[in-house]
Amino acid sequence: MGNSENRKFATKLIHFGAEIDKQTGASSVPLYQASTFHQASLDEPPEYDYTRSGNPTRQALEDYIALLEGGVRGFAFASGMAAISGAFMLLSAGDHVICTEDVYGGTYRLLTTILTRMNIETTFVDMTDLDKVKAALQPNTKAIFIETPSNPTLKITDVAAVTAWAKEHELLTMLDNTFMTPYHQRPIELGVDIVLHSATKFLGGHSDVTAGLAVAATDSLGHRLKQIQNGLGTILGVQDSWLLMRGMKTLKARMEAHETSARKLADWLSAHPAVTAVYYPGLPNHPGREIHEKQSLGYGAVVSFDTGSGEKAKQLLSKVKIPLVAVSLGAVESILSYPAMMSHAAMPREVRHERGITDGLVRYSVGLEDIEDILEDLDQALRS
Ligand SMILES: *Cc1c(COP(=O)(O)O)cnc(C)c1O
Repeated sequence: MGNSENRKFATKLIHFGAEIDKQTGASSVPLYQASTFHQASLDEPPEYDYTRSGNPTRQALEDYIALLEGGVRGFAFASGMAAISGAFMLLSAGDHVICTEDVYGGTYRLLTTILTRMNIETTFVDMTDLDKVKAALQPNTKAIFIETPSNPTLKITDVAAVTAWAKEHELLTMLDNTFMTPYHQRPIELGVDIVLHSATKFLGGHSDVTAGLAVAATDSLGHRLKQIQNGLGTILGVQDSWLLMRGMKTLKARMEAHETSARKLADWLSAHPAVTAVYYPGLPNHPGREIHEKQSLGYGAVVSFDTGSGEKAKQLLSKVKIPLVAVSLGAVESILSYPAMMSHAAMPREVRHERGITDGLVRYSVGLEDIEDILEDLDQALRS
């Protein structure tokens, strides 16, 4: 492959190392649909002995995401939450975590209902303010969990500033990169130790696979994550590993098209009389725009906006004809979500409102449909 390390991202997406089967020359990784492997000689340890511990199809995916994120080792899990839970298993009873306050709902649930029972405590802070992160430090703090842009109001954390401070205090940093993907944001280059993904979203890209990925920045973290993945057994299956790679090959083409439309949508919504607020890191008035531009190569494809009331939001959801009205994001089809009744339903109303998640807020994940049709559809739904 020559000096493939120096190749550009788009080339790495297609030529990631396992794009040609070494045995047959086949143009995709074979599905090694096997749970175990014959050990012809007991004298030397086999490369693969049991699929929970390693499988060539899954390995190809794990090497693929490690290459894209610029890490040393990748891991494929059964879901985004399995990857995130696995990463938290690096901690021990008595440890303390600092976490961004508008973290993904599933991560919030893990931290507040499961890890608390393991005596791992979390302080949730507004990570747009580094002083608040610093103020949360305790003698037993071991890790920082970052999500930027956050969901659904797309708040921005200065990743390099947080990781620089974390290193001074020997804290492990983890970042959920689901919204940006390595095409738009590569956290390891900003000092993050572990990058996490719900590959169910943009990486898979077609709303047809549930998967999670983790990438370690160092060999020692990679070694420990391998132990956890094998020990918990929360691996991604062979078929889903293959399907995910199938989707990832078009990541650049999809992200570019998604983003072009998302920018148009954000501008259009900003001028719409029925919309009271628009959240998108690419808008000139977005409070985190400058920091986001320093650490990311694009704004992504998720645009949140406020319709003014719960009644209007529900009306919109019932009138739109193009998007899927659903939980999830990052797919070829547009997906319209209603945080107050979907992803953030478990959050008390006052807490939701404090965080800008009003009853009128909806989140649009812009798909690959023609933007003119998306706008026309939204216009008729907003005006009716
Ligand atoms: C969906 C999502 C997750 C959870 O991923 P699953 O694949 O559903 O388990 C985690 N983080 C973010 C930002 C997400 O959007």
